[in-house]
Amino acid sequence: MTGTLGSTVQTTLDPTIVWDALVIGGGATGAGLLRDLARRGMRTLLVDRSDLGTGTSGRYHGLLHSGGRYVAKDPNAARECIVENRVLRRIAPFAIEDTGGYFVATPDDPDDYVDAFSAACAASGVDCAEVEVGELLRRVPTLNPAIRRAFAVPDAAVEPWSLIDANVADATALGSAALAYHRVVGFDRSGERLLAAHIQDVRSGTVHRAMAGQVVSAAGAWGGQIAAMAGAKLLMAPGKGTMLVFNQRMTDTIVNRCHRPGDGDIMVPVGTVAILGTTDIHVTDPDDWEIAREEVDELLDEGEKLFPALRRMRLLRAYGGVRPLYDPGESGHESRDVTRAHVVLDHAARDGISNFTSIVGGKLTTYRLMAQDTADAVCRKAGVDAACTTADEPLPGGDHGQRFHWLGGRLAAHEAEGGGDAALICECELVTRSMLEEVLERRWPCSLDDVRRATRLGMGPCQGGFCTFRAAGAIADHAARVSPDKVAVGDATERAMSDFLRERQRGTQPIAHGRQLQEALITAGFQWGTLGLESLVEPGEGRDATG
Ligand SMILES: Cc1cc2nc3c(=O)[nH]c(=O)nc-3n(C[C@H](O)[C@H](O)[C@H](O)COP(=O)(O)OP(=O)(O)OC[C@H]3O[C@@H](n4cnc5c(N)ncnc54)[C@H](O)[C@@H]3O)c2cc1C
Repeated sequence: MTGTLGSTVQTTLDPTIVWDALVIGGGATGAGLLRDLARRGMRTLLVDRSDLGTGTSGRYHGLLHSGGRYVAKDPNAARECIVENRVLRRIAPFAIEDTGGYFVATPDDPDDYVDAFSAACAASGVDCAEVEVGELLRRVPTLNPAIRRAFAVPDAAVEPWSLIDANVADATALGSAALAYHRVVGFDRSGERLLAAHIQDVRSGTVHRAMAGQVVSAAGAWGGQIAAMAGAKLLMAPGKGTMLVFNQRMTDTIVNRCHRPGDGDIMVPVGTVAILGTTDIHVTDPDDWEIAREEVDELLDEGEKLFPALRRMRLLRAYGGVRPLYDPGESGHESRDVTRAHVVLDHAARDGISNFTSIVGGKLTTYRLMAQDTADAVCRKAGVDAACTTADEPLPGGDHGQRFHWLGGRLAAHEAEGGGDAALICECELVTRSMLEEVLERRWPCSLDDVRRATRLGMGPCQGGFCTFRAAGAIADHAARVSPDKVAVGDATERAMSDFLRERQRGTQPIAHGRQLQEALITAGFQWGTLGLESLVEPGEGRDATG
């Protein structure tokens, strides 16, 4: 389900082109906007300071919401979710595992909430059917047997990187472009207009100017920073959420607590693992936060109410992401109380900048609708009169026979071709050498972490304990093929490995105690003891990423 589309991301900026629009931020929202604008005939450039999908879209929980979570508190958000849930199933089945989902009432959940749940779902158009608890316990035997009631909803699991890739592929086929590792560092402004953006190639340090008629910030939690560079005021209320990755799918369907949304109350099966989340803590800087040991304990305490044996299961890692929440009242609320709704901000009206727009808030489930609303506003400003087509036209990728992604898909595809020795690099996620080489071919220079996003390498139960080194060998081979300089090959291989190892380590730090600590020490033994990689990453460095 990943890395299927071919070359969609460019590596250099052509400063001579005047773009119809510039989109800043290559998460789901920015990629959806790139597609929408391109389909309306606007030649658009998308830039991201890192690889596409490394912001919140690559650090989220993985749930395609049915809307059930919002029916009591935010019926509008619930309605948007169910509508977009149906759209995405139609246009992007290859990125979705149709796991279904349940809201279950544990003994801790209030009767009045549970009693009102079905009716609230009906009022928001969310399909919901009460099921026999015994039937659900037979399907998910790891669930708490004390569960009192259960409701089935059309939740699903959605993989972000193939979705982003497909949006970008559709746009680039129409003459638009996407640039990874290019950071916006400033703007040229004349009176009411932004004339050009200063864009730094993160790898070389070179700064170029990109000229565009319209500038749109889809920078998520970083939206305030982009607005400030343009001379506009935009206050975000970023909310950090932590999630825990377990080494097994203790459920093959999504399980939500049936109560007012809180911490540690959703379990999502994602690929070969299951993820419990989340917390929600206000942070001032979306790049500066840690995962505290107490958060891990709190998640486990809450998670045990759904899966009582949770603490006996192997915890692989913790990771976190930052919600791009916008607090229009600037009230400094705790972020769980700030609206999840998306808002299109026209900086002409707010800040006197006629060709600048920001999109803030929202959810991954509603990224397409967010892009549509933003593209409507941008096209109005640009005088473009073209309708949105993204809800009707399937995204490229998959076979469009409405086949959802399924866990055994890679194995089945391999067996269909005769099976046998697949030259596996990553056993957990069935990543073969040819899959890895295909990504290196079209994305070079790239890192192992970029490969991870394109293939899920290192995201299964061994968390890169074994595949890292095989992949590094393949990268060294590739670097040697494209460069005759031995020192450059060594540097490229080291660079390719260091961010991957850093990411993996940061995730294990907050959970490293008891049996988890033993696992961490074994992996550290491979990396630092046997292979002497301490020169690349110090033990204890690093942040984290989904799965
Ligand atoms: C813990 C957690 C769990 C969640 N779970 C779910 C869920 O299960 N289901 C769901 O639907 N939603 C979920 N969400 C919400 C969802 O993940 C986000 O709303 C969505 O991913 C935001 O996408 P985005 O494209 O707007 O922002 P992002 O994905 O953050 O993209 C913004 C991009 O801007 C780039 N950028 C920043 N500064 C610059 C710059 N100066 N120059 C160039 N680029 C820049 C960043 O690198 C980043 O890639 C969750 C969020 C969190 C935090």
